[in-house]
This record gives sequence, C-alpha cells and structure tokens, in this order.
Amino acid sequence: MFYAYILYYVLGFVMIPGIILGIWAQMKVYTTFNEYAKVETKHGKTAAQVARYMLDGAGCVDTKIARIRGELTDNFNPQTNTISLSDSVYDQNSISAIGVTAHEIGHVFQHKDNYVPIKIRNILVPIINFAGLIVWPLIIVGLILEFTNAFVGSDILVYIGLGIYGLDILFCLITLPIELNASKRAYKMLLATGELDEEEALNAKKVLNAAAWTYVAALLTSILSLLRLLLFLFALRGGDN
Ligand SMILES: [Zn+2]
Repeated sequence: MFYAYILYYVLGFVMIPGIILGIWAQMKVYTTFNEYAKVETKHGKTAAQVARYMLDGAGCVDTKIARIRGELTDNFNPQTNTISLSDSVYDQNSISAIGVTAHEIGHVFQHKDNYVPIKIRNILVPIINFAGLIVWPLIIVGLILEFTNAFVGSDILVYIGLGIYGLDILFCLITLPIELNASKRAYKMLLATGELDEEEALNAKKVLNAAAWTYVAALLTSILSLLRLLLFLFALRGGDN
C-alpha cells in the first residue's frame, strides 16, 4: 500500500497545469477587483442600495441583503433567499462592488426564471456530497479485493470510484455556464437600469470575466484529477488490465 501512496503522490505532476491556471486566475481576480475597487461609479450609490433597487424593480422584494465577512465571499443563498455582500462590496460604490453585486442578482434571477442549468446543479449537489464521502474508501476496497482475488468482479467498485470523479467534472461543467450567464445578466442589467454607463459596465465586466477564469481552472483541475486517478490505476495494475 505504501508503493501505491508514493505512486499516487508522484502522479501529482499531472495536476500542474490546473494548479498554475488556478493560481493565475486567483491573481487575476484579485488584481482586477482591486483595480476597479478604487474607481467610484458616477452614480455613487452603494452596492447594497443598488441591490435593493434592482431586486425591488424586478419584484424580488422578499430577497434579503446581508453583510458577510471576508474577501470575495459574496454569494446568493437560494435556501434563505439572501444575497450576502462582503465588506469590500456592501457599502462601497466602486465599479468592482457594483459589478459583483449585479452578478449575485443575476443568480437570483436565474432561480426566479427556473434557469435549467441551476435545476440540474441542484440535483447534482446532494449526490456529489455523498459521493465525495465514499469515493476513496470505494476505490481502496475495490483494489484490495482485486489484489486478494477475494471477490471476482470487484472492478465494479473501482469503476464506481471513477464515475464519482466523473460527477465532479459534470458539476464543474454545469457551474461554468451558470456563472457566465449570471455575469451576462449582470452586464445587461447594469446598462438597462442605468446604474453604470457603457464604459463603467465594460470595466465591471472585466472584473466578472476574471472571476469566470477560476471556474475554468476548477473544471481543468477536475478533469486532471480523473486523469491522475486513471494513470494511478493503470500503473498499479502494471498496465495488464
Ligand atoms: Zn456566481
């Protein structure tokens, strides 16, 4: 089993492109966000004010707006119907703050419109949470059974393990269009409501596009994780299977 551990560790090199893209995307998000966090909007309203105005305008009077700690922790929770805006967004009137806020409102409208990818993701979430708990025990039990020949057809456990990794890829694949769509809605909304003028909206879009790269990095990482596992299983079996 020690050999297997070393082998899996060594195969980590497969993950390098995903790690590099992930770090690059994070840096891009922070630098772009910080750049436009220094630029105040002509309108001058705070993000929380803009959010209330946009939500009420669309009839989402029940959607709450809360403040949350941390950086870039902004999110929409459909269970509590609450938009949480972080400290560098909530009471700020920067291009970045308004852009991020409009993106979260985009998520509110996705739920309101019964946007199909959201529905698919909602079905996937509990399955993936459960799968995440059992993936490694399954693969290990599958391999032990296979090596000890204790159970003919134990391959099935390994394949279930691989299937679970496939689910993760599916989740990342469905998240990407959801995030891009929320940003697209944000851009249109900002222009339509006149909260930002064209130049400001384009800059807000730069902040949101940078954030989208983190989801591309997550997708690449999930694909490479599966590749790493496939190589691991292939090498462990001496490639004779
Ligand atoms: Zn989002």
